[in-house]
Amino acid sequence: MASTLSHELNQPLAAITSYATACENFVDARPPRSEPVRQALRGIRTQAERAGQVIRSVQSFLRRRAVDRSGLDLAALIRGLEPLLRLQAARTGARVVVEVPPGTAVLADRIMLEQVLLNLTRNGFEAMAEVPMADRVLQVVARPLGHDERGERVEVAVVDRGRGVPAEVAPQLFAAFFTTKSEGMGLGLSLCRSVIEQHGGHLQYRPRDGGGSIFAFDLPRLSEADGPRLEPTLPGIAP
Ligand code: ADP
Repeated sequence: MASTLSHELNQPLAAITSYATACENFVDARPPRSEPVRQALRGIRTQAERAGQVIRSVQSFLRRRAVDRSGLDLAALIRGLEPLLRLQAARTGARVVVEVPPGTAVLADRIMLEQVLLNLTRNGFEAMAEVPMADRVLQVVARPLGHDERGERVEVAVVDRGRGVPAEVAPQLFAAFFTTKSEGMGLGLSLCRSVIEQHGGHLQYRPRDGGGSIFAFDLPRLSEADGPRLEPTLPGIAP
């Protein structure tokens, strides 16, 4: 979504920049020419309204979107993402290793969870663009966390061996519009964190031993006993 938003906003912003340049040229002309300036200003207003519309439609999309939880087999969900992961990986020549114990099931909104995973994996691949080829390994790892006051939990971690996060950057990672990328929007991690919080979990960053980053979040775990209750949305767990 962040990349769509960035694309949709870049067009009106580029148009505004070129209208503004044209205005400067018409004002600098001897004698200054007011009619083309007026036209360019009209263009600026139209484009600014278009950018505003894009932002408003995203806001209303986010407000409308209710969390639609179902029981999801994690390994199956990640298998479904493989074509997209391969596409992301192809750009950097990275390998993807998925380590999910069989039968690991979570309660989550499928589309939202997929978006979170794809955002985190894309960041991981991008972080490895400059490390030696042999080190470009991205892991998606799930492990049971046991029981807390919210019930059984599962941790899902996206682990890369990239350049890591400098200590002074770490506190800002999840702030909206924080980015260190020339083409970045800085919305991915802040959206991922709010999605995970909507699911009653936390998304955290921690450094990886040996270099790289771990972005890990927790979700409610479904046990076999939940299977009959949630069937038929829970393939692989229902009896
Ligand atoms: P964007 O990708 O548009 O910059 P994000 O919110 O996804 O937006 O990320 C914000 C910033 O966090 C990135 O610009 C980058 O500096 C840092 N970051 C995110 N993921 C990683 C990672 N896996 N390794 C190193 N830095 C990361």
